[in-house]
Amino acid sequence: MEIKKGIAVSPGIAIAKALVIDSEDYRIPRRTIMPSQRQVEIKKVRLAFKHAITEVNTLEAAQSDVKESNIKDIFAVHLRFLRDKSLRTKITDLIESDHYTAEFAVSTTLRDIASHFSRIKDPYISERAADIYDIERRLLKHLLGKKREEAAHITEEVVVVAHELSPTQTAGFDKSFVKGMATDAGGRTSHTAIVARSLGIPAVVALEDVTANIHGGDTVIIDGNRGVVILNPDEETILQHEAYALEFSRLEHELDSIKDLAAVTRDNVKIELLGNIEFPDEAQMVVAKGGQGIGLYRTEFLYLYSENEPTEEDHYEAYAQTVKALGNKPVIIRTLDLGADKYTQSKRFVPETNPQLGLRSIRFCLQNLMMFKTQLRAILRASVLGDVRLMFPLITSLQELRQAKMILRDVMEDLDEYGLPYNHNIPIGMMVETPAAALMASTFAREVSFFSIGTNDLIQYTLAVDRGNERVSSLYSAADPAVLRLVRTVVQDAYKAQIDVKVCGEMASEPEYIMLLIGMGVRSFSLAPPMLPEIKQIVRSVTAESCNQIARKVLTMNSERQIINYLRDATRKILPEVF
Ligand code: PEP
Ligand code: MG
Repeated sequence: MEIKKGIAVSPGIAIAKALVIDSEDYRIPRRTIMPSQRQVEIKKVRLAFKHAITEVNTLEAAQSDVKESNIKDIFAVHLRFLRDKSLRTKITDLIESDHYTAEFAVSTTLRDIASHFSRIKDPYISERAADIYDIERRLLKHLLGKKREEAAHITEEVVVVAHELSPTQTAGFDKSFVKGMATDAGGRTSHTAIVARSLGIPAVVALEDVTANIHGGDTVIIDGNRGVVILNPDEETILQHEAYALEFSRLEHELDSIKDLAAVTRDNVKIELLGNIEFPDEAQMVVAKGGQGIGLYRTEFLYLYSENEPTEEDHYEAYAQTVKALGNKPVIIRTLDLGADKYTQSKRFVPETNPQLGLRSIRFCLQNLMMFKTQLRAILRASVLGDVRLMFPLITSLQELRQAKMILRDVMEDLDEYGLPYNHNIPIGMMVETPAAALMASTFAREVSFFSIGTNDLIQYTLAVDRGNERVSSLYSAADPAVLRLVRTVVQDAYKAQIDVKVCGEMASEPEYIMLLIGMGVRSFSLAPPMLPEIKQIVRSVTAESCNQIARKVLTMNSERQIINYLRDATRKILPEVF
C-alpha cells in the first residue's frame, strides 16, 4: 500500500481498478525496460514508422486533386522525415544504450529536434517544429494505439491515472465508467480539474509521480476531499474508505433536499446561483441541483469532441439543446476561449513558448474571423429560443472589446440580410479576468451590460502563477490581498455604473470565499453544478450584515495565510462538515 498526497480538485471518494493512460499532448513518462526487451521495442519503432509512412502516402494521394495546395508539400516534408534513416537510428540507439521504451525514445528524440528547430531565426525552419510535433503524434498513435483505444472504450468502472489529461482526452471518456481521476501534473483550476468537478468525478492532481508507481489493474482509492490517492490499499483501508464514501453521499443527498429552497440570506438578501457547464448535457445537472440558470457555458469544449472544426449547425444544436433545457432561465454563452491548454497547442497551430500569454481566447478569435463569425451566427440564432446572453472572454483592452462588438454587429447585419430572426437586444457582457480589465473596469462598464469575474485567470495573471503548474501551485491563491483588491475594484465599479457583476471562476465554488464575496457586494455566482447545494446552504445560513463585517476585516489584512485561515474559521462555524 502506498499513500500519495496531491491537490484535491473535485470532491468525493472513488475506489476502482486503475486505467493508466499515456497522453497524446504531453511528454511521455521516462520509462525503462529490461535489457532483454530492447529488440522488441526496436521492432515496435520500425513498425510505427512503416505504418506512419503508409498513412502519410495515402493522405498525400488523397490530395491529388488539390492544385494550388501546400498540403501536399507538408506531407512531402513529413515523408522526408519519416524516411530519414539517421532519425530512426537515433531513436533505436537510445533504446539500445538507455533501455528506454519505444514511445519515450520516439518522443524525446523528436521533441529535441522540434525545440532545436523552433529556436532557429529563419521562420521557414522554425515553423517546421510544428511538423515534427505532428510526426511525433502520428508515431505515438501507432505505438500507443491499443492503450488509447482502451481509454476511449472503457467497459468497466475505472479510475483514470495519467501524467496529465488534456481537455480533449477528458471530453472523450465514457463518463459512466470513469469513477475518479489522478494525475502527476495539473493545478486546482486546470481545465481537467474543472471538467472533473463539473461532472462530479472525484479527482486529485499534482501527485508528481503517480504514473511511475502504478500498473494498470491495480486497485486505487481516490479521496477527492483530502487530496489523497492510495495505491494497492489493504482490506481495512478499503472498508474504511467505503464507509467514508457512504457518508459523503449521505451528506450530498441531505444537501440536495434544499435544491428547491430560495438562495437567500437570513436577512433576506437574494443571491443568484448559476451553473458553469462545458457540455450541453450538463445543463440538466444545473437544473437538478437547483441552479437558476447557466452563468458560464465554456463553448470551446465543442472543439474537443472531434478532430474537425464544428460547423455552424454543430454550434447551434449545442446551444439550442442547452437553452431548451433551461426553459426561461438565463444562459450566458461565452464565445470561444481556445488557446493556452485548450486545443490550439495540440492541433495544427505552431506551439507557443508561453501559451498562457499567447494567442488565446478573444485574441485567437479576432485573428480567426471565419471561426468566430460561425459561432456568433449560431449564438444569435439560438437567442430567440430563450434568455440567451453573450459574453466575451479575456478582454484586455477597450479596442479589443470594441472590435469584438463590431464583428458581432457585422454578423447581425448578415442575419438581417438573410431574414434570420435573433434577439436584437441580446445582453453583451465580458469576463474580467486580466488585471488590465479589472483596473479599467469603470471604463469597460460603460460598454457592456454585465461583468463576470473569471478568478481562475485573474489569479494567474495577477500573481504570475501558471494555473496548471503543480510546481507553483502553493503560490496560487484567491486569498491573496492583491487579487481581492482587484475583485473589490471590479464590484465597486460595476455598482457605480449600475451593471450586473458575477463571479464565475472556481473561487465561487469554494465555500470559504462565499461570505467574503457577498460582503464585497457580489450577488450572483456561477459555479460547478455539484457544488450548488453546498454553496446555497452557506448562503441560507449567513446574514449579509455578518458577511460585510468579514469583508471589512479581510480587506485590512495583508497576508494571504492570515486571510485564508480567517475565512476557513468563519466558514467552519457555519458549515462544520466542510473542513
Ligand atoms: C476563469 O478564468 O476564471 C474562467 C471562469 O474561465 P476559464 O476557467 O474557462 O479560463
Ligand atoms: Mg478564464
